[in-house]
Amino acid sequence: MNIETSRQLYEQAGRLLPGGVSSPVRAFRAVGGQPLFIARGEGPYLEDVDGNRYIDYVLSWGPLILGHAHPAVVAALEEAIRRGTSYGAPSPLELELARRIQGFMPGLEMLRFVNSGTEATMSALRLARAFTRRDKIIKFEGCYHGHADLLLVQAGSGVATLGLPDSPGVPQATTQDTLVARFNDLESVISLFSQFPDQVAAVIVEPVAGNMGVAPPAEDFLPGLRDLTARHGALLIFDEVMTGFRVHPGGAQALYGIQPDLTTLGKVIGGGLPVGAYGGRAEVMHMVAPSGPVYQAGTLSGNPLAMTAGIATLDELQSADVWPGLIAAAEWLESGMADAAADAGIAIQQNRVGTMFSTFFAQEPVRDWPSASRSDTARFGRFFNAMLENGVYLAPSQFEAGFLSTAHTPAILDQTVAAARQAFGKAMG
Ligand SMILES: *Cc1c(COP(=O)(O)O)cnc(C)c1O
Repeated sequence: MNIETSRQLYEQAGRLLPGGVSSPVRAFRAVGGQPLFIARGEGPYLEDVDGNRYIDYVLSWGPLILGHAHPAVVAALEEAIRRGTSYGAPSPLELELARRIQGFMPGLEMLRFVNSGTEATMSALRLARAFTRRDKIIKFEGCYHGHADLLLVQAGSGVATLGLPDSPGVPQATTQDTLVARFNDLESVISLFSQFPDQVAAVIVEPVAGNMGVAPPAEDFLPGLRDLTARHGALLIFDEVMTGFRVHPGGAQALYGIQPDLTTLGKVIGGGLPVGAYGGRAEVMHMVAPSGPVYQAGTLSGNPLAMTAGIATLDELQSADVWPGLIAAAEWLESGMADAAADAGIAIQQNRVGTMFSTFFAQEPVRDWPSASRSDTARFGRFFNAMLENGVYLAPSQFEAGFLSTAHTPAILDQTVAAARQAFGKAMG
């Protein structure tokens, strides 16, 4: 595989952009090797600057549920761009996208558009703190909610520890009200509620964990969180930035039948352009400025191009056969990968919910961060690189989700499984 142009660009980029990238995990550091510079995306494929083509299971980290450059999205954008790129004033497009989102997720009685998932979670927590007049929040070990200061806390060890910052530059004062519980462990949440009575504003959770690799919720976990938050006067926030339109068209809240107070969205609702949103109970959302006193603003929020790409994407998803097709593809890939691993005699845990999946090189089921972190990351690195050699582009870390799109046809999936058969052998080392 010739990646000479990527090599040269990476070297130049390293002098201009920290680590040569605009977001850390793109740098391939967890798997060895160097990032590929991409020239174009089309359907299920990414093409790098040296002309190599890969079947893409990253899909811009989730948003591209219709694949790259879907004709409907491209056509809508081409038309929209002639009407201007940003208005800084309301446009009907915001209403159109909001109504579509609400059609899929009726619990979002009102919502506010922002520009990223990070902004959505940060703003939702500000709102929850204002609404409850409490300061503490509970998050879960291994869950990622963007890079806002108060959320850059993971808890190293221990079931429920006080949050200490994960990054230099985050003052301890910013995270002292961030409490960390263990995913899929209600006892750890109960213990925090009793340690800090009447102080918890919100519990924020990825209802299906996707940022430790995919880990589904245990059966009692989300109902338990709903019950605990209601009982203690705290808000329940589902961070569905990844799971929204990915685990079910109505998100995890529809899949598991649990109504959170607030929901954060991003990724798919922008159809590949920068969009986030937060929304939920009207009485809570009415507190957002200028309706209420909680300040939150954005120069480019509700951007007409971003709204347009989101509308076109959700309209495609609305067609009756699209979702069953995605699930059939996901099941096909899941069983193909499992068979390929079994034939190679390699132990994997293939986790999947809807169109999100992870192949963990682990002996035991992965259900939380401790079990995910016992994966053999060296083995994953060899697998990743062998897949890349075979023309399949996976997320360059064991602890990331893979994604499917409507462009991943049966032939593409078969090609992927064939690549995996060989790569599993190489992963054994
Ligand atoms: C990606 C992600 C975010 C952050 O979204 P950005 O658009 O990258 O800021 C937040 N929460 C979850 C669950 C995510 O997967």
